[in-house]
Amino acid sequence: MASWCLATKKSAPGARPPLTLDTDVTYLKGAGPAVALRLRALGLQRARDLLFHLPLRYEDRRAHVPLARLRPGEDALVRGSVAAADVRFGPRRMLRVAIDDGTGSLLLRFFHFNETQKQNLALGRWVQAYGAVRAGTQGPEIVHPQYRVAETAEDLQPEEGLSPLYPLTTGITQARLRGLIALALELAARDDELNAPIPGLDGMSTVAALQVIHRPPGDKDAKLLLALTHPAQQRLIREELLAQQLSLRLLRNRMKERPAPRLAAAATATKDVQAALPFRATGAQQRVLAEVAKDLALPRPMLRLVQGDVGSGKTVIAAAALLAAVRAGQQGALVAPTELLAEQHHRNLTRWFKPLQLAPVFLAHRLKKAERTRVLAALADGSAPLVVGTHALFQEAVAFARLAVVVVDEQHRFGVQQRLALRDKGGAQAPHQLIMSATPIPRTLAQTVYADLDVSVIDELPPGRTPVVTVVLSNERRDEVLARIGEACRQGRQAYWVCTLIEESEELDAEAAEATAARLRLELPQVRVGLVHGRMKSDEKDAQMRAFQDGATQLLVATTVIEVGVDVPNASIMIIENAERLGLSQLHQLRGRVGRGEQVSQCVLLYQPPMGDNARTRLETMRSTTDGFVIAQRDLELRGPGELLGRRQTGEIGMKLADPIRDAALVPPLQQLADRLLLKEAALAQRLIARWIGDPELYARV
Ligand code: ADP
Ligand code: MG
Repeated sequence: MASWCLATKKSAPGARPPLTLDTDVTYLKGAGPAVALRLRALGLQRARDLLFHLPLRYEDRRAHVPLARLRPGEDALVRGSVAAADVRFGPRRMLRVAIDDGTGSLLLRFFHFNETQKQNLALGRWVQAYGAVRAGTQGPEIVHPQYRVAETAEDLQPEEGLSPLYPLTTGITQARLRGLIALALELAARDDELNAPIPGLDGMSTVAALQVIHRPPGDKDAKLLLALTHPAQQRLIREELLAQQLSLRLLRNRMKERPAPRLAAAATATKDVQAALPFRATGAQQRVLAEVAKDLALPRPMLRLVQGDVGSGKTVIAAAALLAAVRAGQQGALVAPTELLAEQHHRNLTRWFKPLQLAPVFLAHRLKKAERTRVLAALADGSAPLVVGTHALFQEAVAFARLAVVVVDEQHRFGVQQRLALRDKGGAQAPHQLIMSATPIPRTLAQTVYADLDVSVIDELPPGRTPVVTVVLSNERRDEVLARIGEACRQGRQAYWVCTLIEESEELDAEAAEATAARLRLELPQVRVGLVHGRMKSDEKDAQMRAFQDGATQLLVATTVIEVGVDVPNASIMIIENAERLGLSQLHQLRGRVGRGEQVSQCVLLYQPPMGDNARTRLETMRSTTDGFVIAQRDLELRGPGELLGRRQTGEIGMKLADPIRDAALVPPLQQLADRLLLKEAALAQRLIARWIGDPELYARV
């Protein structure tokens, strides 16, 4: 076998090192270089990794479901003898096999099959099949079941425990993974560390919990496992959450150990910014400004998240922190997730800082080479004290002379990696970090996912804002909406018309927006219609935004690119087409673009009937409240476990078993435990982090 050859090549003949959890998977029986390569795509390199490759869910194949009792929509294990089989020709060739178990019958359909399969499924033979049952025209059916064929019913026995289902990659089957994981479990049983209890977590060892999860024992545990409430699962969930807390705390401690420039003039800078503003800071803004100023005056880097609803005025806080850096002879950088937003910040700060004789520079990918070189040089030699930009700022070529303050706007658009990249641009000194988020999350969740940050909340909107009036209308009433827009524009008002994503394609999205703009120009000939979408060149985008800001256009057709941060106070109407497609937070962000001026704003959520229950609830929530925290809470409630699973599969949730939303209540005691372990059991803490997270700096949070 290939694996043996490799093993002997590496070590002295006859002295094969004993297998341990740190052994490369290549050396495990049933693997080999080709399989190992594929496993690597799943992040599985050593035996230990297999151990922590946890099932996504379980299949219940413990009993045959009598065919008469099959229910559409459920997965079932069935057994029956072949009562009829034929190949149907037609638009799609298919093999149809009817099986019978005495209580009823079931149709198995195969669109892809070969001659051997066909012959195997001959009349009178016994078949055991597993798959999703659906209602066919002639009764229940399963399309492409997993199946086995035998001569007698007795040869087809159900399984004893639940069958775990693992995340797969091409060329790796469930059976292969189960085999390899079984080997890893044997190695784990001999591993002292995994057998030792973790102080503060209950008695069960990690190995014992893993054993149950990978090889569900018997009937008694099945129900609990399926419900994710089995003590073994709970034990591992807590261990994973503990590891996450440990890693974030460690990250924070490490960061706080580094020296940061004391910005002693932070309090004065705060006053100066307030004096330069054309409005009075709200009480909440003043409170947060004070919290930030206090952090900045310390010789340790600030790590602060500012949470505030859309329109709560977070930019003011950013401005004060940046000015504090400049006043201390240092540099500040503000990063925004889109070019549109970066430009807007650049414009605002340029205006606000003008009386203070301070001009921020701008950096984005689109800059011409000469301009870019000039900006980079000015940042590197310190002659530019302030820069506003996009993620272009994260790039390696960007170096600062004395970076003291980093502000990251709309944090959820960036990964933790990128934030760390900017942090390292301070050279020997660690810059103060201010992270701004307009996605309010409930406190319990915040303490889980932002355990490395201090949190400030701007829980008050600037005065004079009238809540946006929201209506939900069927597409059938589009004409009424058009009439209203025409009238409003005649009165000097401006409106957004938002086209929502048709598919996950910016290209199609842009096309749809173009078509909508063309149509609206025909339908509203007296209205000046603008258009902005993600596929436009940035100067084109810029020109469109400016035209809208200046009132040269009255109705701006846009894709969801305007979701983040864009500020045009005179725009007081927003139409969102196919609003039923969008999630609550996104709708809330979009709606935040209006209601920024004096007049009462309207938001029209157009939907295409018929609409599902969940979508209906979302739109009803939008209609009944404008409070970002209420909306965020409802958003979490509406996301079912299915969606969470989807997010786990796409890697959006960086956790294996725990879910920061579902398991939020488990976190507070684990936080205390994490602090205790970091102090008293540093080695164990490191091991837990390595076990679940790897390098904490590589760990991406939700
Ligand atoms: P956020 O980034 O929190 O969504 P912005 O910083 O873009 O909000 O502010 C939204 C709008 O409110 C901007 O036009 C800003 O100038 C204005 N603004 C901010 N603070 C105040 C305030 N205290 N009083 C009046 N207007 C304010
Ligand atoms: Mg903002």
